[in-house]
Amino acid sequence: MPRSDRILMGPGPCNPYPEVVEAMIRPMLGHLDPEFVALLDETCDRLRQVFRTTNPLTLPLSGTGSAGMEAAFVNVVRPGDVAVVGVNGVFGERMAEVASRAGAEVVRVEADWGEPIDPERLLAAHPSPAVIAVVHAETSTGVRNDVESLGAGKGDALLLVDCVTSLAGIPVEVDGWGIDIAYSGTQKCLGVPPGLAPITVSERARERLVERPQSWYLDLNLLGRYTGSATGPRTYHHTAPISMVFALHAGLGAVLGEGLEDSWHRHAECGRLLQEGLHARGLRLFAKAGHRLPELTTVWVPDGIDEAKARRCLLERHGIEIGGGLGAFAGKVWRIGLMGHTARPRNVALFLAALDELLDT
Ligand code: PLP
Repeated sequence: MPRSDRILMGPGPCNPYPEVVEAMIRPMLGHLDPEFVALLDETCDRLRQVFRTTNPLTLPLSGTGSAGMEAAFVNVVRPGDVAVVGVNGVFGERMAEVASRAGAEVVRVEADWGEPIDPERLLAAHPSPAVIAVVHAETSTGVRNDVESLGAGKGDALLLVDCVTSLAGIPVEVDGWGIDIAYSGTQKCLGVPPGLAPITVSERARERLVERPQSWYLDLNLLGRYTGSATGPRTYHHTAPISMVFALHAGLGAVLGEGLEDSWHRHAECGRLLQEGLHARGLRLFAKAGHRLPELTTVWVPDGIDEAKARRCLLERHGIEIGGGLGAFAGKVWRIGLMGHTARPRNVALFLAALDELLDT
């Protein structure tokens, strides 16, 4: 099976939108070329639309989703600050680690893998945290954590949300939900290869940015001046990954061209088709009902199936990639992504037909 025919139904990356592939082979521009600068500005505007925010400080960081996570913490945490962090999977765990490395005193609010975190417990975990942080879409478990109600109860804390797997796949309302810092990654529901971490910072959070954060590269004050997301003259910071910015610009164009809400609906519809198809075949879903992500379905591997062999067969015979479980669920669950351009009913049908063949043999 030629590599170009792969159907990327793992937890990411997904198949990029065709216009993204075209954008990546555009002739190179200099990173200070006025044409590139205009395209970067437009990219930041498109990010504001997809994040549903008017935050001036909204930009693509050079680096993957984890760079967004690091930037979010190192720019607002001062030594000894309390950070309440929701932990119900690998990425919540990573947030707790990153917050602690940034010098925070971390208060963990845990839930079992497969279960959502109760927002009331996050809000009640500490009387005066500097930060409350949660992963919106936990890619290790397929669980959606509630974010909507956190903004109203956050008090003086900054609300920091990981939107790596949620942005453009399910509703994210940065301004509407009172999120202070949200970051994402390009390779999930934005339908772009991995390499950039879109981030947005509320004016409230901007006033509290650490003046000289531990990371020079991820210093949001410096980056805001470079990307034109802050007032004042544009100042060179680093050489932007030009082709990736072209790609993100095109991916955001695809999402907005379809309509952001239509993109959410397409993901919802594909997730529903897949989850119903799995259920109809007697497979058990892992994530708690009512909190299942449409863009990332977790399912228990049926008894008697060698899961690694099954995934290899899907890849080699059908060109379909899916993901295995993480942590204690390695070898026990599959993670099936329907993100960005990959979220199509056709791909669900192909996957279910391949699964039928696999379960028959
Ligand atoms: N947060 C979540 C929810 C993720 O799913 C991922 C990656 O899958 C990350 C953070 C880290 O992103 P990256 O692997 O792009 O650094």
